[in-house]
Amino acid sequence: MTDTFALAVHGGAGTIGRAALTPDIERATHAGLARALEAGAAVLRDGGAALDAVTAAVCALEDEPLFNAGRGAVFTSAGRHEMDAAVMNGADRRAGAVAGLFGPRNPVRAARAVMERTPHVVLIGEAAERLARDAGLPFEEAGYFFTQKRWDALQETLALRARGETSKDASVRHGTVGAVARDRLGNLAAATSTGGMTGKAPGRVGDTPVIGAGTLADDVCAVSGTGHGEVFIRFGAAAEISARMRHLGESLDMATAHVVHRILAPNDGSGGLIAVDRHGNVALPFNSEGMYRGYVKGDGTPVTSIF
Ligand code: ASP
Repeated sequence: MTDTFALAVHGGAGTIGRAALTPDIERATHAGLARALEAGAAVLRDGGAALDAVTAAVCALEDEPLFNAGRGAVFTSAGRHEMDAAVMNGADRRAGAVAGLFGPRNPVRAARAVMERTPHVVLIGEAAERLARDAGLPFEEAGYFFTQKRWDALQETLALRARGETSKDASVRHGTVGAVARDRLGNLAAATSTGGMTGKAPGRVGDTPVIGAGTLADDVCAVSGTGHGEVFIRFGAAAEISARMRHLGESLDMATAHVVHRILAPNDGSGGLIAVDRHGNVALPFNSEGMYRGYVKGDGTPVTSIF
C-alpha cells in the first residue's frame, strides 16, 4: 500500500432525518461529497501532498451551501456568521487555525495562511481577517453566506430556547466539513471547517480549530471531527485516537470506534469523525443518525453515504 493514496471527507454529522430527505437533496448531497472527493483525489493522483488535497477538498465543501461551512454556515444567536477552521500537516505537525472569522470565502485557506505566514497556530476574529486580506484571499459579503435553511434553523432554535427547551435531536444542531488524506509518500493531513453550532453564543469557539480536539494530523493518523464541539474539546477526541494507536497499539478502526462510541456518546458528545492512518486505512464512525461522508482509495471507486 506504500504508493497508494487515501482520502475521506465529511459534510457533518448534522444530517437531516431520513423522513425529511427528498430525492433532490439526497442527490445534491452525494454530488457535493463526490465533488469534494474529486477535488482532493485530483491532487493525490498526481502525486500531490496530502495537505494540498485536504485543502482542496474542504474548499469544495465550503463552496457547497448544503453543508455548514463557508457558504451555508449556521448563524450565531445574534444572527451572524462566525467561522472556525483548521489545517494540520502530519509529518512535521505544522498547524494553522482561525476562529470567529467572517469574510473569507474559504476559511480553510485563512487557516492555512496562519500556518504558512505566521509563527502562530491560531488567530481569531479581526486579526485572522487581516491576515486573510494580506494573503490575498477572496472575500464575500453576508449575502453570499446566507441560506434560508440555516436562518430558519436559527429561528427554531431561538424559539425553543425562549421556552426553555432544546431540540430533542442533538444532531440537528450540527454540521461541519472536513477532509483527511494520506498521500503517495505516506504523509498525512487533516482539515476541518465549520460555522459552528446553530445559535451558538457570539465568541464561542468549537472543537474545529482546537488542534487535538476536532482536527489532528501526525505520523500515525489524521482526524477531522464533527459534532458537539465542547465534548470533543473536553475529551481531546482526535488526540485520544492517535494516543490509543501509538501507546495501546490499537488499529484505526478500534481507536476511532472507542472514541466515538465509548467516550463521546456516553458524554453527550453526539457526532462522528473521519480518520486515515499511515497505511491508508480509513474509518468513518459516528453515533448520530447519520453523517455526510465519503472516501476514495487510490484508483478505487469513490463511495459517498449519508446514513
Ligand atoms: N463541531 C462543530 C462545533 O462544535 C459543529 C459540528 O460539527 O456540528 O463547532
